[in-house]
Amino acid sequence: MQEPKRRKFVKSALLGALGAPLLSEPGMAMASKLNPADPAAAAVGYVENASKVDAKRFPTYKPGQNCANCSLIMLQYSPYRPCKLFPKNVVNANGWCSAWVKNPLR
Ligand code: SF4
Repeated sequence: MQEPKRRKFVKSALLGALGAPLLSEPGMAMASKLNPADPAAAAVGYVENASKVDAKRFPTYKPGQNCANCSLIMLQYSPYRPCKLFPKNVVNANGWCSAWVKNPLR
């Protein structure tokens, strides 16, 4: 009789602990993945995988640059993270766009 209640409590405590970081960033829980076809994303050449950058269109791109080491990405716990350039979306940590700025710490 006690076991289900204990299990339920542990489950909800774990989910709360895991969900807390997501909810600590405003809007993060509801942010959708940035679509590369979105006009704003397309304007800066956003791609989900930096290896797919059109080097002819973006000659400043250098291998090794990606969202994960850009100054504009905000958190480090997920493959998709908030980006200051696209506040309503999350971007792929392996992605890239022409607004990339090296984060000196990464
Ligand atoms: S600004 Fe930086 S983090 Fe944001 S999409 Fe462009 S490269 Fe990625």
